[in-house]
Amino acid sequence: MAEPLQADLATRPLRRPALSPSRAGDFKQCPLLYRFRAVDRLPEKPTQAQVRGTVVHAVLEDLFTLPAAERVPDRAKELLAPAWERVRAERPEFADLFSESAEELEWLRSAESLLDGYFGLEDPRRLEPESRELLVESELPSGVLLRGYIDRVDVAPTGEIRVVDYKTGAAPREVGEAKALFQMKFYALVLWRLRGEVPRQLRLMYLADRQALAYQPDEAELRRFERTLEAIWAAIMRAAPTGDFRPSPSRLCDYCDHKALCPAFDGTPPPYPGWPEPEEDETILDRAD
Ligand code: SF4
Repeated sequence: MAEPLQADLATRPLRRPALSPSRAGDFKQCPLLYRFRAVDRLPEKPTQAQVRGTVVHAVLEDLFTLPAAERVPDRAKELLAPAWERVRAERPEFADLFSESAEELEWLRSAESLLDGYFGLEDPRRLEPESRELLVESELPSGVLLRGYIDRVDVAPTGEIRVVDYKTGAAPREVGEAKALFQMKFYALVLWRLRGEVPRQLRLMYLADRQALAYQPDEAELRRFERTLEAIWAAIMRAAPTGDFRPSPSRLCDYCDHKALCPAFDGTPPPYPGWPEPEEDETILDRAD
């Protein structure tokens, strides 16, 4: 069984720019969106659904710290309020998400329903994950650095690896499914490069719809995917010195927080701040759902 990597990462003094699945996805969707998020680091207004996702992920991480027999729905729901308090303590602005306590209570109930969805998909009493919220980092032979968080890694007694990702939004349709698979292939590639073994299964668990999708990656496919990531990083590096990150309008612009600054909608971006220095490279990494 391979060693978890958190200790190595925590003691590394300087971290250079890396590609995360979310930011790679942003660049594919729209290079300017990538710039706004990864380079300018413009703030975005969190939605109730996004914060609920963060809290439910925290509960599912905490759940596996309990003795196996206690991993039941009622106990998981008891973990919700403390997880929400923790998240709110880290991000006090999240308190502004709710105008009244009844709204917050309703929101917490909707989080309970996601937890019910989780228990409809698997029985955590029968699982002992190898890792949860695993921070992984791997450098491709081309020098591209990949970094991301994996919700859960299960390793069978026979050594087969399963990558698990919890989705708290609705089940995938078109763009959503492509994005989720892109993210999972990213994790599979990083784990393969780190451990020398292609994960046997990528499992996406859609808690709202109580649906799970399983996918078996193969080595040839991950090699092709590696080339895709290298091409994305090369394109980012071409734009990085001058800030030539162009808008690529699509129907997803309706969900973009930065439309008012986008030239495709008669906006003007702020002056380009320049490519971040290595010690600032947390800008390139984010926590993906
Ligand atoms: S509005 Fe659309 S084109 Fe403009 S930055 Fe956002 S996603 Fe890109």
